Amino acid sequence: MRNISLLGATGSIGRSTLDLVRRYPEAVRVVGLTAHTRVAALAEAITEFCPAVAAIADPTLLPELRERVGDAPTELVAGPEGVVQVATQAECDTVLAAIVGGAGLAPTLAAARAGKDIALANKEALVMAGDLFLRGMAAGGGRLIPVDSEHSAVYQCLRGCRIEDVRRIILTASGGPFHGRPEIDLAAVTRAQALNHPNWSMGEKITIDSATLMNKGLEVIEARYLFTGDHGAATIDVVIHPESIVHSVVELCDGQMLAQLGMPDMRGPIAYALTGPRRAADVMPRLDLTATPLHFTTPDLDRFPCLRLGFDALAGGGPLPCVLNGANETAVAAFLDNAIPFTAIPEVIEAVMAACTAPAPATLEEVLEIDRWARERASGEVTRKG
Ligand code: NDP
Ligand code: MG
Repeated sequence: MRNISLLGATGSIGRSTLDLVRRYPEAVRVVGLTAHTRVAALAEAITEFCPAVAAIADPTLLPELRERVGDAPTELVAGPEGVVQVATQAECDTVLAAIVGGAGLAPTLAAARAGKDIALANKEALVMAGDLFLRGMAAGGGRLIPVDSEHSAVYQCLRGCRIEDVRRIILTASGGPFHGRPEIDLAAVTRAQALNHPNWSMGEKITIDSATLMNKGLEVIEARYLFTGDHGAATIDVVIHPESIVHSVVELCDGQMLAQLGMPDMRGPIAYALTGPRRAADVMPRLDLTATPLHFTTPDLDRFPCLRLGFDALAGGGPLPCVLNGANETAVAAFLDNAIPFTAIPEVIEAVMAACTAPAPATLEEVLEIDRWARERASGEVTRKG
């Protein structure tokens, strides 16, 4: 039985996790919940799952949360400190980190240092502060288990393999709504078009990241920290696989490849992160291998430069992954506000990365300072382009 604190309970990953808790009460129990502003949805989840403690990250909403929850026995807390309290409380052994963006770093790092097992969906935390985060995991002694579908696939393929025998990790990417559509003028695409993902239903930020291929850029960095830190000889590649059935591939030194397949449904990787190596039965719809032909092609880095920027940030190291992430969050928010065109997203990020002269961050405070700088600088670029 896992006792989980679910950070980001009201989001796409959060809701899929709660669906699994409902269906497998013998395997997972909720002891902590958090949200940012969706107070009604958080109150409903508190009433249903009765966690020991719940946090609303926007402290101005605490009175409304209290009113909605009534006399439920859950302790209610607020603000970023409240989210950290939920992530580190004694009742919880596992934190499912499903806050979107840099806001997830501080509570997830606190949980890592407190020795919790971390089921990680919040890839931005690892991209911003990979070394610091892994040091936090090592100090706390908990396990880091990927939730991201590609990384869950690699994690599953690597069971029974020696990392020294891995030649290449191949992350698959759907390509998003604009892959294979050269007739579409990317400078003119609308918010609604970019949010219309062909295979996955996800939060808005990651859906835009999928359309720009930045999601894959972040995932390349995530894979480096999760799998190949001690084995730099293994390369990480990306292939476009529009069907999203093969979730990733591991190529071994003898030339053989291992892959993990399944329907595009995040409940599969979430359940595996929470119950593995055991499997819960009938988590997701079954895959009919005869139903869909599978295709693989090379990504177009000229049309989708965000993936190239992800590789550049990984190669440059130091502060660059954190800068990439902060500038991307600002640029995506600006695109979603209709302040810049889709094609300005990589332009903003590239300009901010080029301007960075900071040394590699060593502490959480230094990471957050670089993140603040990148967002400010990106806002300036947005104003210039808007
Ligand atoms: P959503 O936008 O759907 O949900 C985000 C969650 O984070 C919500 O609960 C939101 O609260 C909370 N949140 C947002 N801002 C803050 C903040 N400042 N402080 C505290 N909490 C905050 O995102 P997703 O579920 O799509 O994604 C979550 C993470 O998982 C991301 O890192 C994403 O990259 C990763 N991921 C998602 C996948 C998916 O299928 N969705 C697949 C693989 C990875 P509120 O609702 O109150 O605003
Ligand atoms: Mg993914």
